[in-house]
Amino acid sequence: MTFPVIGVVGGGQLARMMAPAATALGFELRVLAEGEDVSAVSAVPTSPVGDYKDLDALLEFSRGLDVMTFDHEHVPNDHLRALQEAGVNVQPGPDALVHAQDKLVMRAAIDRLELPNPAWASVADVEALVAFGEKTGWPVVLKTPRGGYDGKGVRMVGSAEEAADTADWFAAMTPLLAEAKVEFSRELSALVARTPDGESRAWPVVHTIQVDGVCDEVIAPAQDIPLEVAAAAEDAAIRIANELGVTGVMAVELFETPGVGSGFLINELAMRPHNTGHWTQDGSVTSQFEQHLRAVLNLPLGATDVLGQVVVMKNFLGGENQDLFSAYPLAMASEPAAKIHCYGKAVRPGRKIGHVNLVGAAASDVDSVRQRATTVANIIRDGRAPARTAPGNSEETV
Ligand code: ADP
Repeated sequence: MTFPVIGVVGGGQLARMMAPAATALGFELRVLAEGEDVSAVSAVPTSPVGDYKDLDALLEFSRGLDVMTFDHEHVPNDHLRALQEAGVNVQPGPDALVHAQDKLVMRAAIDRLELPNPAWASVADVEALVAFGEKTGWPVVLKTPRGGYDGKGVRMVGSAEEAADTADWFAAMTPLLAEAKVEFSRELSALVARTPDGESRAWPVVHTIQVDGVCDEVIAPAQDIPLEVAAAAEDAAIRIANELGVTGVMAVELFETPGVGSGFLINELAMRPHNTGHWTQDGSVTSQFEQHLRAVLNLPLGATDVLGQVVVMKNFLGGENQDLFSAYPLAMASEPAAKIHCYGKAVRPGRKIGHVNLVGAAASDVDSVRQRATTVANIIRDGRAPARTAPGNSEETV
């Protein structure tokens, strides 16, 4: 037996964070990178540059791989089929991945599985959008079915008048997905992994906090979630994985809707390690990155128990500080238990450049763990200690 070679298409931070897991297990990781300077290149010695939209580049990259997997969901489905026909072991395969590539296909599948969807419709033009809004009530959420991420490709439409302004979106892509705006109490994420042979495991459902459409913070497990809601959400995620033939890690993003239906509605699917699973790196027996590699290689899955009582993941986005390392002494000294993960990306405003994980020993610690993780993340983002507002409202630096 020789150790397997895993190829990851896409060189973002997700591919980068698979590297430590591959190294620990003795696997060889290779990355098809978008450029010399993307996040994974400095962590993965074999990172040829190539275009994931070019079938020849994908075929070339597939040589010598035991399995091909992904950092993102944007590889054209036809290319995935062609790779399979050429004998490449593609995980997840195109029939599963299409549900993470196309939100209209995903909504139809969730209906078919009789799992909880918000009201939705495929809308071909402004008139159809207005008809949907008149039926379900305004506001309506309009989405591009393909290519959206971090809230790009999502737009609130408040009224029939506002719908007229969406003609540019219909000109660029049609049909679009219209959804009723969900009144949710929290956003949740159910993370699971599944192997080609059908073994699956779930992590506990987590609470995710989005700011401007970008995941900002995750609290694991979701605090005070009714047991039956958490169990139903985990079951739904496992069922989706089984029914759609998902392999590797999948995140099911959910809206919590207390007292309505089963207590949640499904937002969207991601078929790869996910920002809402970064807490597992330091807060679970098996990290999502190790689990993804085990799953796509059809190996037995690792335990998903939580370490400690509560785990907080806090992202940091590009801010004032260009020299992240200069802030490390202060950040590390402020919280010795914090685990800092930096993606090796150039700092640009609003760009995800790293995150902090912090494990709390008692569930009652949640507020303090959140605050401490946030302090570390803010120090790195700003390059200085956070200013706090002291009693009497005078600004004081701590
Ligand atoms: P992306 O693919 O960019 O992550 P999402 O479909 O997850 O897009 O939408 C981004 C954010 O927009 C969600 O995290 C949520 O806060 C909000 N959102 C999306 N759909 C709805 C909806 N139907 N009702 C209310 N809020 C929504």
